[in-house]
Parts: sequence; C-alpha cells; structure tokens
Amino acid sequence: MRRSDHLERLPQACDVLVVGGGATGLGVAVDSASRGYSTVLLEARDFAQGTSSTSTNLIHGGVRYLKQGNIALVRSALRERGTVSRNAPHLVSELRLLLPTYAWWEKPFYGVGLKLYDAIAGPHGFARSSVVDATTAISMVPTIRPERLRGGVVFSDAQFNDTRLATCLAKTAHELGAILLNHARVVGLTKEGEKITGVLFVDFESGHERVVKARAVINATGATADTVRRMDEPKTEDLMVASQGTHLVLPPDFLGGSTGVLVPRTKDGRLCFVFPWQGYTLLGTTDVPVPSPTRTSRERRRPYFTWAASTSPWITASWPGRRLPRGMIRVRS
Ligand SMILES: Cc1cc2nc3c(=O)[nH]c(=O)nc-3n(C[C@H](O)[C@H](O)[C@H](O)COP(=O)(O)OP(=O)(O)OC[C@H]3O[C@@H](n4cnc5c(N)ncnc54)[C@H](O)[C@@H]3O)c2cc1C
Repeated sequence: MRRSDHLERLPQACDVLVVGGGATGLGVAVDSASRGYSTVLLEARDFAQGTSSTSTNLIHGGVRYLKQGNIALVRSALRERGTVSRNAPHLVSELRLLLPTYAWWEKPFYGVGLKLYDAIAGPHGFARSSVVDATTAISMVPTIRPERLRGGVVFSDAQFNDTRLATCLAKTAHELGAILLNHARVVGLTKEGEKITGVLFVDFESGHERVVKARAVINATGATADTVRRMDEPKTEDLMVASQGTHLVLPPDFLGGSTGVLVPRTKDGRLCFVFPWQGYTLLGTTDVPVPSPTRTSRERRRPYFTWAASTSPWITASWPGRRLPRGMIRVRS
C-alpha cells in the first residue's frame, strides 16, 4: 500500500468520501468498499494517529454501563467484542481480570453483576465469571493490597492493540479497492445549493489543493467533528463535548502475574483497569469531560501520577486519549 499509488489513482468523483482515518473512518471505508461503493478516505495526519491509538486497548462490553443499567449498550458492545474476536483473532486476546472486594457487600453485588455480564455475552462470551476468596485473589495478583481483602470476582474481557487494528482496517480497505490518503486535510466542502457534493483538501506533500466529488460525505473526524460540521454550516452550535483519560505504562512486574485488575471505583470516582499489555503493565482510567483537554490533562494527571509513582517508581510511558461521546456524524448530502 503506497501513498503515491493511491494519489495517482485518486478519482475526481466517488460514491463515498470519508473524512478522517481513525478507527471509525477506516471501519466505514471497509464497510463501504466491501459493499461495492467507490470509496475515498482522506486523513489529515496519519492513520489512527488520533484517539484510535490512545485508547485503553480493551474490547469490552462496558462493565460501567451495566452499573448504569444500560443493558442495550452492554449487549451491543459484547456482540461487537465477539465480532472483532472472530474477524481479527490475531489482534484480540482474552484478558482475565480480578475485581477485588474489600467491603462485605461487594462480592455478592459484583458477583451477581458479572454473572449478568456473562449471560448478556451469551455465545459471544469468554470464560465465565467466578467468585474467589482472598487467598486465591492474592495468588492471582500477588501485588494486591492484602489488608481487609475479602476476595474478589474474576471475569473475562478482551484486549487488543488499537493501532494495529486500525492499520489492518486500512489494509483491508485498500485490498477492497478503497483509496486512502494520509497527510490530506479536508479544508472545505463543495456544495450545489444546500447539497454537499464533495470536499476540497490539501495534499501536504505537494501543497496542492484538490477537489473530490462524492455522493455521500462522512464526517469521521472524532473529537474535532464540529470543525467539519462548520464547513457546512458556519454558525452551527457545537455538538461535541470532549472528554479525556490518561494511561500509564508501568513495568511488567507491577501486577506480579498475568491477571489484570478492575478497580470499580477509585478515590476520585473513576473506574480503572490495570492489566498486562505488550510485555508491560497498562494502567488506564475512564475518561472525564474536559473543557480544554490539553491544559486540564496535566492537572488531572498529577494525582494519578503521584498515586502510581507511590506504588511503582518506574512510569515507562503515558498517553492521554481524547474522544467525543456521540461518535461519527454524517454530513448532510
Ligand atoms: C481515554 C480513552 C480510552 C478509550 N479506551 C477504549 C478502549 O479500551 N476500547 C475501545 O474500543 N475504545 C476505547 N476508547 C474509544 C475509542 O478510542 C474511540 O471511540 C475511537 O478511537 C474513535 O475513533 P475515531 O475514528 O472516531 O476518532 P479519531 O481516532 O480521533 O480519528 C479522527 C481522525 O480524523 C482526522 N481528521 C480530523 N480533521 C480532519 C480533516 N479536516 N481532514 C481529514 N482528516 C481529519 C484526525 O487526524 C484523526 O486521525 C477510548 C477513548 C478514550 C478517550
């Protein structure tokens, strides 16, 4: 897959033009090209350089949504987990997680909740959850705090490598005939009256501006989707509310075994995962809404770093991930 070949084959018009080469845009390109539509995807920087390479790298049904009672969301996420596991078994692997319990009510509460999680997963599930005593919990995660530990609930989810999955989606879209261009920023939309008929983009390698006409333009620009929406309607109000979470990479021995840990509620009210990842330990928290992601990130990371550093003096790497809650938006056409 060579950029120069794709640039050469770039058509003047196509059926579907996707703006944004993250997981969403690349997934749309695969879907569109596999249905026989001529498809072009334009990515401003590089494929998956945005949120799609800064996630927690988990494919899960969302235990926290279960706590919120959002069964429909959990069911669709678990079905998706099954689909990705089947389609990309080389990128997805089962992850055993311990949810440690310290209060008397936690074991029955989370035990029943995770049995429900198993039941919703149905045929898409991995190993079933089970309740364990304190001795077993410590044998699974030797570095866990043993004081007042009552045991825990062990359950399964899946982990993956977000960047590799996105790269595979790009290659699949390419094999299906889609044209994919990175370093190609969409800077405007072409319109006939109210109807969007294509996009204007800048090829950063040559500096040239080009137009590609399309029957449908898909805005898959993630957290910056409002920028593209405003190319259509300059006065439109923001739809996106950015949120951000920080991940830390710690040494492999942080956990002391191959079982990860789910902390259902940290001191600041988050849900936090710690699990083996790529030969290291990945510590990731759920994201929180942020008015100004870049600046607030540092403020929010400080207590988190302090806590991790008190447990492990070696923070190998860290990355913040930014997203929007509402996902892909289709520009009017
Ligand atoms: C902290 C955190 C943890 C997460 N953990 C998980 C997890 O464990 N598992 C999971 O499944 N999901 C997780 N997610 C969610 C997941 O990462 C996102 O839903 C997903 O990556 C969003 O992909 P996207 O393609 O919509 O956005 P992005 O990956 O941000 O892609 C948008 C792309 O559009 C491009 N773009 C922007 N403007 C233009 C333009 N004008 N022209 C051309 N291109 C443009 C950008 O350069 C970017 O590459 C997490 C999210 C966060 C924030």
